Amino acid sequence: MTSGENLHLLYRELPSVDQIVSSLGQNGFDADLSHARKVLAARRVLDRLRSEIAAGRHTADSLADEIRGINASLEGALAEMKSYELLPVINATGVILHTNLGRAPLSPRALAHITEIAGGYCNLEFDRRSGLRGKREQLIEERLLRVLSMRAEIPYDDLSRNYGAFVANNGAAATFLTLHALAAGGEVLVSRGELIEIGGGFRIPEILERAGAVLREIGTTNKTHVDDYEAAVTERTKLILRVHRSNFRITGFTERPEISQLLRLGRKHNLPVVEDQGTGAMLASGEESTFPGSIAAGIDAVIVSGDKLFGGPQAGLIVARRELMKTISRNPLARAFRVDKLTYAALEATLLDYESGTENGIPVLRMLSLKPKDILSRAESLVARISDEKLSVSIQPGHSVIGGGAAPGARLRTHLIAITHRTRNASALLKALRDSAPAVIARVVKDRVVLDLRTVPPESDSILAGILNSLAA
Ligand SMILES: *Cc1c(COP(=O)(O)O)cnc(C)c1O
Repeated sequence: MTSGENLHLLYRELPSVDQIVSSLGQNGFDADLSHARKVLAARRVLDRLRSEIAAGRHTADSLADEIRGINASLEGALAEMKSYELLPVINATGVILHTNLGRAPLSPRALAHITEIAGGYCNLEFDRRSGLRGKREQLIEERLLRVLSMRAEIPYDDLSRNYGAFVANNGAAATFLTLHALAAGGEVLVSRGELIEIGGGFRIPEILERAGAVLREIGTTNKTHVDDYEAAVTERTKLILRVHRSNFRITGFTERPEISQLLRLGRKHNLPVVEDQGTGAMLASGEESTFPGSIAAGIDAVIVSGDKLFGGPQAGLIVARRELMKTISRNPLARAFRVDKLTYAALEATLLDYESGTENGIPVLRMLSLKPKDILSRAESLVARISDEKLSVSIQPGHSVIGGGAAPGARLRTHLIAITHRTRNASALLKALRDSAPAVIARVVKDRVVLDLRTVPPESDSILAGILNSLAA
């Protein structure tokens, strides 16, 4: 044990940052290492020793040992500084839009375009024709409207005459901006069945309040009629908001108006109908709404997330009637929520995938369309490569999920690789997988660790097999 007095003496034994850094030069450390990195490494080691002293973990002898061996500690600190905190992982959970794992992976085309744009200058706000300042929104507006016109089967000229686009940081920012621009100081009508929390504290009632609007709740949780909306319209009403239910589903005795009914009501009272569509789905599946579907219905403004079913970068896309778009893009928050050149590069490339019919290169769409029998044959060949006899491996039917609050009811049939270990339980096995390089993220079903290859790129199958074979130790 060390008293306060002795602690003070121990601190005085520590070398200074300068002493450590100048000794590094003599000890054959990497000559290319910058002074700044040496200082950072020295600080890291000193910080650790100081907190150990403070915790009473050192005697004069143990501290002297540490100081003699400081070179090894510095090497350790430098190695830690070299490895990134943000690292690729293998998502074997079968959750396609896994928010904790970065949601949508980007297409090869998007990656190539980011690389090309990010390393140099680009015409982000420069009009090549006039040589004058341009608008970044215009970079993708035309292409986005062209893709939507193809999918919604509306002539491009009609669409581009009536609609404009804006790109915000994410869906949440886009929704906030739209409501702030169009509804501040007035009332917004929302069905009680759509007053959702999306996750991360994003709740529709609170967003409306922060945007300066007053929420008028319409109907009941399970049933809302168009007449309920009509009865709530007053001279204070500014907007009708429709929210995609994202992460839950109301079943049974339910009813809500079609978008077209809301639009008719909106026209009658001169109120815009805004849809927080969320998923950005380009393809219809079941009764879920789609991005082009909302446009085809004639929505006044629609907001979607770029990195859900649309399969692009994190972004919030707003497509709105020109007069509304003017109000939205002139709002001061538009400047605060706008995106950078990397997002535009990825977004435009993703749109080009849709436009040129190469959307199967978009990972989210490829994973969604994988057939259970193709997943089965990959699982079989992976299992055949497991040679570690401490592992027992089998294949069982199961389900992948879309995730990301994109399609609450949708489950996709898959085949899971179930693994048990002779001595480790499921949670120890999960941890060993997380500790591998790259980390493998899996799930537990009925006390067994399961891997779903739907979300693993095929080129990673052999890496995964190698990791499984080296878990035994
Ligand atoms: C996901 C979602 C959002 C939020 O979008 P982010 O891109 O995650 O910010 C908003 N509204 C709905 C309906 C959503 O599904």
